[in-house]
Amino acid sequence: MIDAIVRHYISHTFCLENNYHYSNYKELDNETNYTYFGARYYDSELSVWLSVDPMSDKYPSLSPYCYTADNPVVLVDPNGNEIRIYYKEKKGISRLFERSKYITYTPGMKYTGENNFVSNAVDSLNYIYNKNADVEGIIQQSVATSEIVNVKKSFSDYYDDSKNTIYWSTKGMKTFYKINGTYEVGKQSGALGLFHELGHFYRDIFKHDEFEKEKNMIDQDYDFVEERRVIEEYETPAAIILNQGIRNNHWAKILNTVDPLSTKTRKEQKNNVPML
Ligand SMILES: [Zn+2]
Repeated sequence: MIDAIVRHYISHTFCLENNYHYSNYKELDNETNYTYFGARYYDSELSVWLSVDPMSDKYPSLSPYCYTADNPVVLVDPNGNEIRIYYKEKKGISRLFERSKYITYTPGMKYTGENNFVSNAVDSLNYIYNKNADVEGIIQQSVATSEIVNVKKSFSDYYDDSKNTIYWSTKGMKTFYKINGTYEVGKQSGALGLFHELGHFYRDIFKHDEFEKEKNMIDQDYDFVEERRVIEEYETPAAIILNQGIRNNHWAKILNTVDPLSTKTRKEQKNNVPML
């Protein structure tokens, strides 16, 4: 939730010594001031995330049960769990100035604002989620972790682990599945592209040691082992559920689809070609 650098700086501040306090917070409500710092409490009430913070191996100096490094008065963490979708809003008399804003995504949410990029991102995540293509609960768990992932508009799709940021083009892609020396061509939606990038974030947070090791490890077919992992473990199963193209490599070509949920190109729409 809080910036990594801040987190490092405050890592030596006071921290509750006993995890017991956290798992039995209800008894402690009257004795502590922690009650209203809802995020972790939510988690422990759901009893699913009452475990070591997935970021703990990124910050070994922190006790894994520390709440915003146990400095809650200064660093209030009201939501504690966010997929932030960023957009720019024009401001000022001549509307020359842009201000960066974001909305917080939750599965199934409805976006009523006017920004196209936000609308596309929300629709895409909802689409994957509602079609039961949220393989391994990546979307659900990304929303539930104490770390933030940012989604920002870009010309291509990639994940920047130094910024916990997904850059997303909203575009679909053409896939190539190599079999017996030839390629079977397929199509993937922009939504699946976003899911792919979320897969990298998910591994960065929940399988961090593996992610760090494999992001630079060369793979003959997939460029990097990290790509093989995301494609084989998340992208492909989701593509099969959504009846979209699959690939056994890291290769793809941009596909200008009519919208991020579709694999239909503008040309096909124009010529009324049946959707693949
Ligand atoms: Zn990737």
